[in-house]
Amino acid sequence: MIRPFNFSAGPANLPEEVLRQAAAEMLDWHGSGMSVMEMSHRGKEFISIYEHAEADFRELMAIPEHFKILFMQGGGLAENAIVPLNISRGGSADFVVTGSWSDKSQKEARKYCDVQIAATNESSAHTSLPPPATWQLRRDASYVHVCTNETIHGVEFQELPDLKALGSDAPLVIDFSSHVASRPVDWSKVGLAFGGAQKNLGPAGVTLVVVREDLLGHALAVCPSAFNYKTVADNDSMYNTPPTYAIYIAGLTFQWLKRQKEGEATGIAAMEKHNLAKAELLYDAIDHSGLYINKVSKDCRSRMNVPFLLRDESRNEDFLAGAKARGLLQLKGHKSVGGMRASIYNAMPLAGVEALVSYLQEFEQKHA
Ligand code: PMP
Repeated sequence: MIRPFNFSAGPANLPEEVLRQAAAEMLDWHGSGMSVMEMSHRGKEFISIYEHAEADFRELMAIPEHFKILFMQGGGLAENAIVPLNISRGGSADFVVTGSWSDKSQKEARKYCDVQIAATNESSAHTSLPPPATWQLRRDASYVHVCTNETIHGVEFQELPDLKALGSDAPLVIDFSSHVASRPVDWSKVGLAFGGAQKNLGPAGVTLVVVREDLLGHALAVCPSAFNYKTVADNDSMYNTPPTYAIYIAGLTFQWLKRQKEGEATGIAAMEKHNLAKAELLYDAIDHSGLYINKVSKDCRSRMNVPFLLRDESRNEDFLAGAKARGLLQLKGHKSVGGMRASIYNAMPLAGVEALVSYLQEFEQKHA
């Protein structure tokens, strides 16, 4: 069976190899006689799946030993509350608002701490990034929050801000939900990173949290135990029943990522090269057309989420119907910005982007 190319923003396409392996192991995982869904999370089979997944993620992302990796539930939106519950100490937090997701984060955090907007790109309608040198950071902030890839607006930090160089000792919190594992992370600049799995890693239901050890143990008294990072870390993410099947699929995806190769590069470095090639191809096609437009500044265009508009919006429905007929699915843009959005996560092969680019050209020619 030839599968269509799925450009969904998330839950999103998964590597076909991962889906096939999961299908082959569905009824009987490695001779255990059980599906992974049917295993106790405390049994030796699932513990081995969990330990491999954690070790593979640490290796792939080069996560230093002084960070804990937590597999939690609740997604990115729950983390908007869980982060301040754990690390704000009821004090203050600075937010850089660069699109819908960081805006949601700052609104939620206001329930738990004193929030200030350190910088925003609202005046450019979320199409640029405020340079870190212009951020208004408070000396006493307990953390600084940044969404490093805005999934709806298609704006991505190409480099993490260096808070120390900006005179701040606060830990940097990054929401990397929509570009996790698509590029390396400079952990020396990060205090905490969180992201749901449903874009680049696996099915919805598991949230990855990478947290520096010194940030553990400061949760507010009202913090639910299942959301207390220290409790979760002390119990190897098994304080409550973890989302076992989602962790298993994420683990298969980590193994797939480890197998990536591009020239000398392997793993995430190879994945980054693939992602760059795909993004360049698509942005180039948009920029060289007379029909499509992407308004994001070139220095911060997302490699994962490519929003674009048709200059003649009356053709939107036609465009989507033609795309679907050619096996190019879920290209409709987010309702808040309209138009189209092509999400080209790790699992989108170059062939998928090539097929989209040919369709863009074909559609434009037909309507010239
Ligand atoms: N942050 C970002 C950057 C996202 O893209 C999303 C989901 N699209 C979220 C947070 C929220 O994730 P969830 O729906 O899993 O809570």
